[in-house]
Parts: sequence; structure tokens; C-alpha cells
Amino acid sequence: MSSLQTKTDVILIGAGIMSATLGTLLKELAPDWKIKVFEKLDEAGEESSNEWNNAGTGHAALCELNYTPQKSDGSIDITKAINVNEQFHVSTQFWSHLVNNNLIRNPQDFIMPLPHISLVQGEQNVKFLKKRFEALSDHTLFKGMEFSDEPEKLKEWIPVIMDGRTSQTPIAATKIDSGTDVNFGALTRMLFDHLKDQGVDVHYQHKVDDMKRTSDGLWELKVRNASGQVERHAAKFVFIGGGGGSLLLLQKTGIPESKHIGGFPVSGLFLACNNPEIVEQHHAKVYGKAAVGAPPMSVPHLDTRYIDNKKSLLFGPFAGFSPKFLKTGSNLDLFASIKPNNLFTMLAAGAKNMALTKYLVQQLMLSKEQRIEELREFVPNAKSEDWDIVVAGQRVQVIKDTEAGGKGTLQFGTEVVSAADGSVAALLGASPGASTAVHVMLEVINKCFPEYTKEWEPKIKEMIPSYGMKLAENPELFNEIHASTEKALRLSGKSPLQTTSEGAL
Ligand SMILES: Cc1cc2nc3c(=O)[nH]c(=O)nc-3n(C[C@H](O)[C@H](O)[C@H](O)COP(=O)(O)OP(=O)(O)OC[C@H]3O[C@@H](n4cnc5c(N)ncnc54)[C@H](O)[C@@H]3O)c2cc1C
Repeated sequence: MSSLQTKTDVILIGAGIMSATLGTLLKELAPDWKIKVFEKLDEAGEESSNEWNNAGTGHAALCELNYTPQKSDGSIDITKAINVNEQFHVSTQFWSHLVNNNLIRNPQDFIMPLPHISLVQGEQNVKFLKKRFEALSDHTLFKGMEFSDEPEKLKEWIPVIMDGRTSQTPIAATKIDSGTDVNFGALTRMLFDHLKDQGVDVHYQHKVDDMKRTSDGLWELKVRNASGQVERHAAKFVFIGGGGGSLLLLQKTGIPESKHIGGFPVSGLFLACNNPEIVEQHHAKVYGKAAVGAPPMSVPHLDTRYIDNKKSLLFGPFAGFSPKFLKTGSNLDLFASIKPNNLFTMLAAGAKNMALTKYLVQQLMLSKEQRIEELREFVPNAKSEDWDIVVAGQRVQVIKDTEAGGKGTLQFGTEVVSAADGSVAALLGASPGASTAVHVMLEVINKCFPEYTKEWEPKIKEMIPSYGMKLAENPELFNEIHASTEKALRLSGKSPLQTTSEGAL
């Protein structure tokens, strides 16, 4: 047993994209603060933020149909799409700041331009897509979107999807070229390299087991190091950026805000194409519509990915049920999260979501051939031997009691939970996820450091020029920012990466 004890200003638990982003923001705003990071794995970005564990979509609501629901009067509600798009532009501004200040050298090491396409089949869905196109295409944030229901045009856009399609079912798509593929794993690793250069103490193979308040108002963490010894580290502020593991750590704090919250874990699988000829023919992220009864995070999509300077092709994710809260977690995670204070919330959620649980269990049981059958809805000529199964990350959806949904309502967004005095904050939930990390971490900063808001505002505005303003309401500002981030991140024009594929994996 070790008795190592330290005191610091800030502790970040977990080395994923959220801690990486918060640490980088804080180092820009308060360079003198001492920051420590504890990560249970060997490296940064190994859980959900890893490039093979998520889909790498820069979520800007350009192609994801779940952000534009149809209202009962038939019109399309674009409120969510605008919010998600605005939040993504907060990220692109911050990333541009890092590139412009040489904190990231080559933006193409983590972000690539890629058309985003929405694809639907069936008369009703085609009508919906046309309406969605009409609602979005005139909007400043979605300029450049095209619609087509002409098979010849679609063949140009998505040859792999149109080849061998014999069905007479109506089919249509929208395409917008300003989409992106983001390697969040690479970005996380780059940010952690930068944090280490800035003197941040990053400890891998250090698992946080417990945390409690000390009499002098600090948070003391019980940390198990690589040799199994226990260390104690205290800080004025702790961010719980444990991804799926955050709920279990938040519960250890005992703060009132941690009560009556539960987690619903959803696992994921991708099919990865191992045939370079097919990989080479596809160049887009193509999002379809979720099957009836399926959760929004299991919307099928066929994605070009850029990983390790290679072009790859992923289809999925197939959602499933697993009681683990992290890919490297334990089968006991779900049970360990059930406490007297959230028991009724969890029971209510269980009763309400029987159909969803049944759907996820059924999905989990699918054989590879059955998954290939689902892929054939997208790629009619798909051959089983060209595709391999890749296990993706876990997503833990928040369950809580809400006024609108009642007890045990399943949430599909992200949620910052913080103590009233701002001394601890946790990020729960997983969607829209890594794409909106900067917006969400600014929310953490605003909630937890209100006394610094005025002092830090000029620096935040220097990094994120649209901070505090709505791009949707300022078309000129949007055009200016869009042009400068495209330039900094080198997103316009021809892709600088030679896209000759050498295989998917
Ligand atoms: C299948 C799938 C597809 C997705 N697709 C997209 C997408 O296309 N676009 C997008 O923007 N987002 C996507 N997401 C969401 C995105 O991946 C997550 O929102 C994001 O990576 C979460 O980052 P994080 O830092 O919170 O968590 P993570 O990256 O999971 O990091 C948490 C870290 O905390 C560590 N940790 C946990 N507990 C402890 C402990 N007790 N002590 C020490 N360390 C601990 C873990 O080991 C891990 O390294 C997807 C997620 C999944 C699973």
C-alpha cells in the first residue's frame, strides 16, 4: 500500500476527447493552474473516442435525419438541426485556433472534408426528405444542399449504393459537400501530447476507485496505480470525463445532483470493408432512417473513413445490449449503478423500454449473414467475404425523471451534471458526442467557474469568435467564420490525402 498524497488545482478523470478538450481550454484560460489526469488504460483516446470505436462523423445535422423530426402538421422542425450545427461550428473554430497557433500542425491528421448524404426509400420517406430539403436548403447554415430522386444522379453520388439496385421503390437523397470525417482518437492523442508539453501531469494505468469531500472543501480521489497501490490525490475541481464510466464515479461523490439518475448501456458493432476496390468507389457519409422501434443511435450509415492515412469504409453501427458501461468495462457495471435513490427510476425505465431492450437483444443475436442482409439494403451487391465485424464503443444513455416523460425517461443527448458549488462536474450521455465537445466543455466552464466568466470572455472570443452569438441569426458572421475555419482546417477544395486505398483494416 502506498500513501502518496498530492494536492492540485484541477483533476481530470479519463483521457478521452472530453477531458482533452477541457484541459486544453483551461490551459489557454488559466495557464498557471496545475492539472492532473488519471486514466485507467495505457494511452489516451482508447475508449469511445478511439477512431475504431465511433463513426467519426462531424455531427453538424447535415445528413442525420433524427435532428429534423416531422411535426403533426406535416412540417419539419429544424430547431435541433440548427443547434447541433451551431455547436459543431464552436468545435471547428476552436480546432482552427489550435491549428493557427501551431498547437496542431496538420489538420488532416484528424479532420477531412467529406460529403454528407441522407438517403431514403419509399414514397412517404421521399416526401419527407423533399420537405426537409426545402426547410434546410435556404437556411444560412445548410447552404449548398442538393436534392435528387433521379437514379442517374444518385449513381454519380453513391455508385456503390446504386449498383445492382433492381427495386422500383422510389429512392431519393440530399447531398452537401461541407461535411467532415473526424478522427477523434487522433485529435485526443494530439491534445494530450500538447497538454503534457504544457506541464500537465498525465498518469496512465491509474484507475480512480473512489472520491470524497475533505473537511477543507477539496475532493480527494482514491486512485489505484499500475502496481495496484493506492494513492490519494486532492483537487479544488474535479471533472469526471470517464465516458460510460462517469455515472459510477458521479454516484461516488454523493452530491444531491447525482441522485435519481441511471444509465442504459447500448453496445455497437460495425461492418468494415476489406476490399480496396469497393472502398475506393465510395466517397461520402450516407445516413439512412432508423428502423421502426430502433433507437436514434442505431441509424444505419455507410461511411468513408480516413484512419492512419488510409481510406476505409464502415457500415453500422448495429446497436445491441450489454451491461458494460465501457468497452473495457465489467458485466457488473449496470447492476453496480442501481442504488436505493435511483431504483424506482431504473425500474420505471425498464418497464417503459421493454420493446427497446427486446430490439437490442435481438440485434445482438444477429449472425454475420443477417447483418450482411441489412447491409444489402444499402449496398445491394455486398458480399460477406468483403466485410469484417469490428466491435465499437459502448454508449450509456442517461435515464432520469423528467416533467415531460415522467419517471425513468431515457434521454438521447449529453448532460453535464455538476455540484451546486461547481467543485465537481460529470459528463453523461453520448450524443451528438465528440463533435460538440467544445460547446459542452464550455458549458462545464460556465457552470463551474462563474467567478471567472468576465475575465475569461475575451480569450474565449479570441478562440471562438462566435462565442455568445447565434450563427443562424448572423449570416455574415457565419460566412466569415465558415470561410476562415475551412481555410485553417483545409477543408475546401481537393482532399490533400492521396486516397488510393490499401485496404480497410
Ligand atoms: C458506436 C459509437 C459511434 C459514435 N459515433 C460518433 C460520431 O460519429 N460522431 C461523434 O461526434 N460522436 C460519436 N460517438 C460518441 C463519441 O464517441 C463520444 O461522445 C466521445 O468519444 C466521448 O468522449 P469521452 O471523453 O466522454 O469518453 P471516452 O472516450 O470513453 O473516454 C473516457 C475515458 O475515461 C476512462 N475512465 C473511465 N473510468 C475511469 C476510472 N474510474 N478511472 C480512470 N479512468 C477512467 C476510460 O478508460 C476512457 O479512456 C459515438 C460513440 C459510439 C460508441
